[in-house]
Amino acid sequence: MLVRSPWSRPHPPHRLVNGLRPLSAWGLAASVLTLLAPVARALEVQVNPTSPQLGDTITVWIQTEQPGSTPTVTLNGDAYPAFALQPTRYRALLPTTPLDAPGRLVLRVTGDGETRNLALNLRGRSFPTQRLWLRGGGANATDTELAQVAAFKEIVTPEKLWQGAFLRPSPGRVSTIFGVRRYYNGVFAQNYYHRGVDYAAGRGAPVVAPADGIVRLIGRESQGFRVHGNTVGLDHGQGVLSIFLHLDRIDVRAGDRLRAGQRLGTIGSTGASTGPHLHWGLYVHGEAIDPVPWRYTGLE
Ligand SMILES: [Zn+2]
Repeated sequence: MLVRSPWSRPHPPHRLVNGLRPLSAWGLAASVLTLLAPVARALEVQVNPTSPQLGDTITVWIQTEQPGSTPTVTLNGDAYPAFALQPTRYRALLPTTPLDAPGRLVLRVTGDGETRNLALNLRGRSFPTQRLWLRGGGANATDTELAQVAAFKEIVTPEKLWQGAFLRPSPGRVSTIFGVRRYYNGVFAQNYYHRGVDYAAGRGAPVVAPADGIVRLIGRESQGFRVHGNTVGLDHGQGVLSIFLHLDRIDVRAGDRLRAGQRLGTIGSTGASTGPHLHWGLYVHGEAIDPVPWRYTGLE
């Protein structure tokens, strides 16, 4: 059942759809059976990528026989929602992060009274590291910003608003990539990874929505966003969220529906920031995932 991929092999390009080996075998058996009798098609599951690496978002497509019975999906025991694409076709998005242990992942899908267990191999990946030497503490986040950002990250709305690949939210150069790990005073920070992508550009440069979404969070440095700075949170639907930090100006309001490419504010250096830059975090079900596959391929 295990989909194997040697760790030494470079990350394969994201393919559109990959049937897993056991399903292909099942599909063959099913087509033979169909010739013999009108056998109903049972639960079908497809996964992409079949050989994910740390930070990838795993897409699971599920075909059921009976309309209206939403399948359940768990990854290593954690449940994730599946959303209907058509009456008998569903999709779930599963986050992985640099904090996950590489190795075997168990995906379980239940629907039509059947259960499929699939094993995936989560490949390790080395991220760049930064060494920071700090004297005394840096700025601490306030309870206000922590509570509001935590509540934002839990938002899951059923309508899918994004279409195709995500746009670059800033014309600035990428100054820090996703997933960078840190040592503080020589000690590896077990729970830290760079939960987004930083773009460096001059103060006042535009920041645009990378995809359609609804503004769900506005935070201001003057109202307690001491670390995040001026902040916009955008809901792309189905548990996919963008957060934009350290903004100078905010040009949108909570509840606004934005189109991809629409300006939401400008680059700044508010909050805990050493120079003008945009931090864009892309979240799937509360976890910051690697935006690169979303930017270059898109997850439809
Ligand atoms: Zn950042």
